[in-house]
Amino acid sequence: MPAPQCASCRKARAALRRPRSGQALCGTCFCAAFEAEVLHTVVAGRLLPPGAVVAVGASGGKDSTVLAHVLRELAPRLAISLHLVAVDEGIGGYRDAALAAVRRQAARWELPLTVVAYAELFGGWTMDAVARSTAGSGRSRSCCTFCGVLRRRALEEGARRVGATHVVTGHNADDMAETVLMNFLRGDAGRLARGGGLGSPGEGGALPRCRPLQLASQKEVVLYAHFRRLDYFSEECVYAPEAFRGHARELLKLLEAARPSAVLDLVHSAERLALAPAARPPPPGACSRCGALASRALCQACALLDGLNRGRPRLAIGKGRGGLDEEGPPGRRGSQPSGPPASEPIPGF
Ligand code: SF4
Ligand code: ZN
Repeated sequence: MPAPQCASCRKARAALRRPRSGQALCGTCFCAAFEAEVLHTVVAGRLLPPGAVVAVGASGGKDSTVLAHVLRELAPRLAISLHLVAVDEGIGGYRDAALAAVRRQAARWELPLTVVAYAELFGGWTMDAVARSTAGSGRSRSCCTFCGVLRRRALEEGARRVGATHVVTGHNADDMAETVLMNFLRGDAGRLARGGGLGSPGEGGALPRCRPLQLASQKEVVLYAHFRRLDYFSEECVYAPEAFRGHARELLKLLEAARPSAVLDLVHSAERLALAPAARPPPPGACSRCGALASRALCQACALLDGLNRGRPRLAIGKGRGGLDEEGPPGRRGSQPSGPPASEPIPGF
């Protein structure tokens, strides 16, 4: 059976069905719709004002690659300028190849690129050194727990170095839904309250952050990369399989199979929870060591580094509510740069 006509241009044959709406579109119309939706997210949410210097957190993976590409397309209309900022966590056999992908993107798209390294920022600590230090602790998820906190700090530092006014990251709707689930599973009302919305306004001197792809599904991010023929890195980090996030991901797949709207429902539930005053965490103060936003005497990054430097990393990892964010590896779910996109195939293709 031949593929149906594209429901938008009515000229080309459809190449996919949009996972959420079921609309049959050709690749060109799908990419245009995807870009228009990201533009709407940015404009309606007033995420990036005209004149903003935007640091794009670039990992070489599909999400940040798609984000950088879409924002580059939209930059003239938004009147913003872009600067790629990549973080070298110091993960042997993984990050070097991912950084090579970021360098290729920067060269191809003629975007400035700055790389900041954990080793340089955090007194010689690389993620491999952290992993060695935490080995045998019985808390295998601690690698991503450390990494999530340190990467956030590193990205902020890189963004400041390039004079950015805003930071954007490539988290998509599935990443956000996983984070909401993780917070539910931990009973973390404070983080649930903070997790809503499309970003943070930049409290306590931190740069405003936002996630322009937060309402885009992972499947559509992969489809966009496929139809735009984007070159990205799709290997999984060596520490990823042990992350707690993997359990949330599996759970989310089951929920989605039973209820296709589960991903967006979770993202929106976090927005609604953010409105509940009782769940709001106390107003943040400043870290006594580095001045960053902190709800205790030391910020999360300084507390972790303190524990590492004392040779007692476990002390720096709290439990449950008092614990640290575990970022895990959002956006590394077996995506394939050159393989078939994860779409619902149109019968007869
Ligand atoms: Fe860091 Fe991601 Fe690797 Fe975890 S999976 S250690 S968060 S790069
Ligand atoms: Zn600090």
